[in-house]
Amino acid sequence: MQQLKKIDKVLPEIMICGRSLDIFLDDIERFHGFTSPGLVLGGFMVDWAQELIGLDVEADAVVETCHCLPDAVQIFTPCTIGNGWLKVLDWDKFALTLYDKRKLNGYRIWLDLKKTLLFPKIYNWYMRRVPKKNLSLEALLEEILSARRSVLSCRAVQVTRMYGRKKKGNIEVCSTCGEAYSTSQGDQCITCQGEGYYSI
Ligand SMILES: [Zn+2]
Repeated sequence: MQQLKKIDKVLPEIMICGRSLDIFLDDIERFHGFTSPGLVLGGFMVDWAQELIGLDVEADAVVETCHCLPDAVQIFTPCTIGNGWLKVLDWDKFALTLYDKRKLNGYRIWLDLKKTLLFPKIYNWYMRRVPKKNLSLEALLEEILSARRSVLSCRAVQVTRMYGRKKKGNIEVCSTCGEAYSTSQGDQCITCQGEGYYSI
């Protein structure tokens, strides 16, 4: 991102998730479509969790919001929604946990609102105190890049629920549409029961 070159000169030595700042920001933009502040912050969260758990540990991930943060895990770890190693909870909490997939112990990292009081742009952005049109993305990103872990907190946790891969149900052919579907939906597929998401 061109406008962040200034920061890049200030923080030339910084490495995030094993990348230089340039590559870190490029990877975010390429995957996500733009340099989202939540994703930059999320990169620092993944970076800290990876450091705590150790890069040699095979880790699964839980993310506690659908917004932005799941992409930080998908870009910077091997965990994706598709391979089942990332679980996304629709709780709108800016928090994630990386944990050892066998021993289930790991670290939860979250945006600590108390700490953002020292970084008013981050606080106002996250709490939506300022209308989006009045928010300078550049200024916000600069504040995130100077705050880094200082707006985050971490705690060791043991995962007790929602781990492991979701089992696939039995597959049958729907008698109405003829498409294969999981029988956990009932005698016909969910769309033929009138509960689908589209009309023709
Ligand atoms: Zn059907």
